[in-house]
Amino acid sequence: MFILSVMDENEALVELLEEVLGDHGLHYPNRGQISFNCPVCDDGRNKHNLEVNYIENVYKCWACGDSENTHGVLGKIFDKYGNRKQKKLYSVLKPETVVKREKKKKTLKLPEGFTLFKDSSPVYPVRRQAINYLHNRGISDYMIEKFQIGFCDKGDHAGRIVIPSYNLKEELNYYIARSWNPMSKAKYKNPEAEKDKIIFWESLIDWNKDIFLVEGAFDGLFLENSIPMLGKHMSELLFETVYKKAKSNVIICLDGDAWGNALKLYHELNGGDLYDKIKILKLPLDQDVCDLKGKIDEYYVTIK
Ligand SMILES: [Zn+2]
Repeated sequence: MFILSVMDENEALVELLEEVLGDHGLHYPNRGQISFNCPVCDDGRNKHNLEVNYIENVYKCWACGDSENTHGVLGKIFDKYGNRKQKKLYSVLKPETVVKREKKKKTLKLPEGFTLFKDSSPVYPVRRQAINYLHNRGISDYMIEKFQIGFCDKGDHAGRIVIPSYNLKEELNYYIARSWNPMSKAKYKNPEAEKDKIIFWESLIDWNKDIFLVEGAFDGLFLENSIPMLGKHMSELLFETVYKKAKSNVIICLDGDAWGNALKLYHELNGGDLYDKIKILKLPLDQDVCDLKGKIDEYYVTIK
C-alpha cells in the first residue's frame, strides 16, 4: 500500500485519461479542467470538445453531450471506453480523490433570513423597505420573480437584497447581497466562494441567443440573457466558456468608466468562431446599464 498526494493522484488520473482518450487539449490544473477529443463525435477533426473536470468528477462533450448523452460522472468514461486494466486503475485512484474532494467542497447556502418577496406579507415593513429600494432602481416585480430575488430581515445579512445565481445543476453557486440602507458601510457582502470559478446565472443562459456581458448583477437584470462578470475583468473560465458555447452575438456593455477594459475584451473575444459576432457599447462616463434602466440602444459603437 502506498499513499499518493493529491497532486500525484491528479497526474496519475490525467495520464490514465490520456491512455483512454488520447492527447489532451487545454489543461487548467488549478481548476482540474482538461479537454480531449470526443470518442463519439470527433472523428479525426481534433476539436477537443470533450471537457473533463477531475475535481468535480464530471465530463461533457460540448458538441454531442446532449444529443448522444456524452456526459456524466467521470467513471462512465472508463466504463465505456477503458479496458479492464484501465477500469481497475481508475477504481484505485477514484475513491480517495473523490471522497477527499467532496469533503473539501463546501456547499454554498443562501444567507440566514433569506426570504423571497412572494413568501412575505406586502405590509411587512422590512419587505416594504426592500421592495421600495428595488422599485426606485427600476427593478420590476417581473425581474424579482424571474431572478428569484429576495431579502434578509435577520442575521448578518439583515437589510440586504439578495440576488442568487445557480449553476447547470440548479445548485446555488454565488449570490450578491446589496444593502438598501444608504448609510451602510459595506454596500455589498458577497460570499467568499471564488467568483472566478463560477458563471453567474449559468442556469439561465441561452447560448444560442445574443448574450450581454455586464459588470454587475443589477445591470444584468435589465437585459435579456446577460452574464454579470462581477467586475470589470472576465475570468478565464467565463472567457473559455463564452468562446466555446456562444453561438450568436456577444455584446459587451461594461460601465461607462470601463471603456478601456471593454475595448480590450472586444479584441480578445473577436476571433476564431466568434469573429465578427462581438458588439460593443460605450455608455456615458458615469453610467451603467442599471442607471440607464436597460435603455442602451443608442450607445452601440463600431470598431474598425
Ligand atoms: Zn462528442
